[in-house]
Amino acid sequence: MNEPVYNFGAGPATLPVSVMQQIRDEFLNFNNMGVSIIEISHRSKEFEAVLDRCDALVREIANLPSNYQILYTHGGAQMQFSGVPLNLLGLKPAHQATYAETGHFSRLANVEAARFGNITIACSSKDTQYDRIPAFTRDMVSDDSSYAFITGNNTIYGTQYQTYPDMGDIPLVVDATSDIFSRPVDFSKTGVVFAGMQKNLGPSGTALVIVRDDLIGHALERTPSLLDYSVYHKAHSLPNTANTFAIYTMCLVMEWLKNQGGVAAMAKLNEAKAQTIYTAIDESDFYRGTAHPEHRSRMNVTFLLPTDELNALFVKEALANGLYALKGHKIVGGVRASIYNAMPLAGCQKLVEFMREFARTKG
Ligand SMILES: *Cc1c(COP(=O)(O)O)cnc(C)c1O
Repeated sequence: MNEPVYNFGAGPATLPVSVMQQIRDEFLNFNNMGVSIIEISHRSKEFEAVLDRCDALVREIANLPSNYQILYTHGGAQMQFSGVPLNLLGLKPAHQATYAETGHFSRLANVEAARFGNITIACSSKDTQYDRIPAFTRDMVSDDSSYAFITGNNTIYGTQYQTYPDMGDIPLVVDATSDIFSRPVDFSKTGVVFAGMQKNLGPSGTALVIVRDDLIGHALERTPSLLDYSVYHKAHSLPNTANTFAIYTMCLVMEWLKNQGGVAAMAKLNEAKAQTIYTAIDESDFYRGTAHPEHRSRMNVTFLLPTDELNALFVKEALANGLYALKGHKIVGGVRASIYNAMPLAGCQKLVEFMREFARTKG
């Protein structure tokens, strides 16, 4: 047997091995139909059953209140940078929204939203290279705002909201692409939570959107149909040919997550995984974490070695040791270990062993 390769890529990212084995095993013969999941109609009863099952699992895993709807949308997470303002700005006459700016993706989100309405940046950690999550509270959001927007986990900078801010009467919108279902979340405190599938859910190019009932049906006149939440809702996410393979894969990942003990068990495991690596960083003078300790992410651990040459050598030698895709995003440099739900604790332990050995020989 070859040693396993652990995939620390930021996204598309590692998926549970058992899920990929199941996909392989039934790829040519889905449900004993003699045909593949990728060649059956999105309107077939067999695919509808997959969709229904995925809905039920999401509802159970998220402990979703009944007044929230589940949509599967095209275009990944960034399509929702347009989808959110197009659907929600019309809630109030000012067509205004308030954003927290905590990194690259939250910046892209507020720049995109400004194409459609009046966008306020209430707080930003730009001045400290996005190394923290600045305070964002209801009193920083004008009553005219249709919604308040946060990026739950900052994939590039390795920071994460430890809890979501309470926005009271203002709908809170969360880009949860890189930490959805990694821990329990009180969805009743949110208006919209969306996530590109490629980090904790499945394949890329598609997003899960969880939206409160009363926020559906207010899309601006010019909203393209395939961005309009009410169009997806009325058609059970099949306004046109959906990405059936992505939804099928996500359904299997949700089944796996339920069998792991759901988000409560996952949160414990994710905490242990992250602590394993952060402890190794904090114990050494060789590695330096880039995120402020109180705002550290449990999904993306970012750190620097003393020089660019050592960063590059670390990534190269790690790869030769079965530790794949550890290179940091070009904006931050250094090393980034993305340790989403499907990364086992053993992967983090193997990384830490490698870190200690590398520091011992190169430090
Ligand atoms: C990866 C990521 C995105 C980008 O997702 P796409 O599906 O490529 O658009 C957006 N937001 C966050 C927080 C991410 O981690």
